[in-house]
Amino acid sequence: MEIDFSAKEDVNKIQPPVGASHFIRPEKKMPISPALLEILACPKCKGPLEQTQSPEGFGCRACGLLYKTEDDIPNFLIDEALPWTGED
Ligand SMILES: [Zn+2]
Repeated sequence: MEIDFSAKEDVNKIQPPVGASHFIRPEKKMPISPALLEILACPKCKGPLEQTQSPEGFGCRACGLLYKTEDDIPNFLIDEALPWTGED
């Protein structure tokens, strides 16, 4: 009896799982949200911070310090904070 070898499994039908790309999220820069701003506090006095535009960062009126944002990353090192008058 002859065996039919032509009936092979069609490997070309195998495809990547549908929806796999759903799990690949592009890194996207997000602006600081008001909700995040609410939980941010001055590392020195734990007081509220105000977002500033020039230079971009977060200012603390109580301390008179401005924590600069560089490359979208707030720098909350007290030693590197700038003097700030709050007259932004
Ligand atoms: Zn402060």
